Amino acid sequence: MAEPPYIRHFTANNPGYMTLQGTNQYVVGREGAVLVIDVALSADSNLDGIIEQVEAMGAKKIDKILLTHIHSDHCGGALALRKRTGAKIGIHRSRAGYLGGEDFQYGEGDRIQFGGGELQVLHTPGHESGHCCFYESGDQVLFSGDHILGFGTSVIRPPDGDMTDYLRSLEKLLGFNISLILPGHGPLVGKPEAKIREYIEHRLMRQKQVLDALRKGHETIGAITQTIYVDVSGPLKNIAEFSVQAHLIKLIKEGRVKNEAGRYRLLDAN
Ligand SMILES: [Zn+2]
Repeated sequence: MAEPPYIRHFTANNPGYMTLQGTNQYVVGREGAVLVIDVALSADSNLDGIIEQVEAMGAKKIDKILLTHIHSDHCGGALALRKRTGAKIGIHRSRAGYLGGEDFQYGEGDRIQFGGGELQVLHTPGHESGHCCFYESGDQVLFSGDHILGFGTSVIRPPDGDMTDYLRSLEKLLGFNISLILPGHGPLVGKPEAKIREYIEHRLMRQKQVLDALRKGHETIGAITQTIYVDVSGPLKNIAEFSVQAHLIKLIKEGRVKNEAGRYRLLDAN
């Protein structure tokens, strides 16, 4: 399955262990003015790459820039693209003012027009509290930002990253008919429902591992991470620790775990 003809992408030259091959920046429109989802880099070469896609679609101009979230690999080039094209920048309400002057804000359920169609805003906190996905209901396409990636898993980094919200935001997507996911990083996802269920199951499996580690008497984030992510080292180890911490925070909220000065213990009946 491929992108419908009114959607194109240009992948930014910012590959890395967090960004996979780089950030996918999408151009969406059937006629006239198009919109762009996420702009990673302000370098001319990156803006040229996006504008070339717009021209290849036969579009006249970019009138909006939507941001899935405020991490720099998604919004780092937004101001530069606005300066060059006059496009208006939109951001989730909770992040108003973040870029020092966006042009409009959006929230759950809002409809945003592009030339020949519209996108529905789905607020999907978890990876970042203001994270949004954008849904095109005609072709059932979801632009998923960092909520769902082409491969691997999304980083949940507390305190802004929140595992309870993240799982809730995954469950929420199961309520929509989605035929294609276009992620912020990695290749498109042709079997969305299976992917969403796999993502949920993966997190629940990790949660179970955290509970098992606590049951065995591991009490610190470091010790728990060590038992679950045996082969992980370097910067990926930090990400694994964030994930463990995010699970512990979720379990504390649910009244299943307590934290005393960085030592985590299961509460009764667990
Ligand atoms: Zn990202």
